[in-house]
Amino acid sequence: MLHFDDIVFGPIFSRRLGSSLGVNVLPSKGKLCNFDCVYCECGWNKDGIAERRFPSLEEVEAALEEKMSKASAEGVPVDSITFSGNGEPTMHPDFPEIIDATLRCRDRYFPQAKVSVLSNATLIGRSAVAEALMKIDNPILKIDASSDALISMINKPVGSYRLAEVIEAMKKFNGNFILQTMFLRSPDFDTAAPEALENWMDIVRELKPREIMVYTIDRETPDKSLQKYTVEEMTAFVRPLMDEGFKIQVRG
Ligand code: SF4
Repeated sequence: MLHFDDIVFGPIFSRRLGSSLGVNVLPSKGKLCNFDCVYCECGWNKDGIAERRFPSLEEVEAALEEKMSKASAEGVPVDSITFSGNGEPTMHPDFPEIIDATLRCRDRYFPQAKVSVLSNATLIGRSAVAEALMKIDNPILKIDASSDALISMINKPVGSYRLAEVIEAMKKFNGNFILQTMFLRSPDFDTAAPEALENWMDIVRELKPREIMVYTIDRETPDKSLQKYTVEEMTAFVRPLMDEGFKIQVRG
């Protein structure tokens, strides 16, 4: 399974993001998340318990400073800085301060670089987490399914989770976020079954995200019974929203 050992890694070059730095503020060995998604590239939570210590704010700041000052001195471009890593970044107790430190470092060395955070959105009900996400260029927030029942099968929340509360918290972004949704099916569920899909589209219409990223499983997943969708199938699923003017990226 995929694990990140460094706090700041890269830059990695991709056509989509250009030259991108990755930031992992979760413990370096293992995985820490309040979801346990059937498709998680970091594996199941139970298999990832190795080290529980978050890197400190000072360590994250020093890693960002070191990586960005070196890239700047060597003339290596940085177009984007993306938080993902071994779990849910907003679980870090100093997440808001880490975002402030990242923006300061970005402004100093690569003011044009876009800061993105991939989050499962479980903690956006906390005002400090929501405010931090609103400061960055791309808050990428996950809703994989349209009901608590489906979410409990796909994302397996650890502790309490209510989709209605997450939707309410997401409304405070006034559409200024990117919604990320995984389409997949297994013998037990299908996130693109007609009713589930229709309800998900209604959530999108309510939230009006400035952009939507739909994708499907790619790498090895902990649940081996999962099946992916093709780009053509996913494009057909979201066609009504595209026709209504939503900006949607479909990735296979
Ligand atoms: S939210 Fe992300 S890190 Fe957490 S279990 Fe799901 S895929 Fe893995």
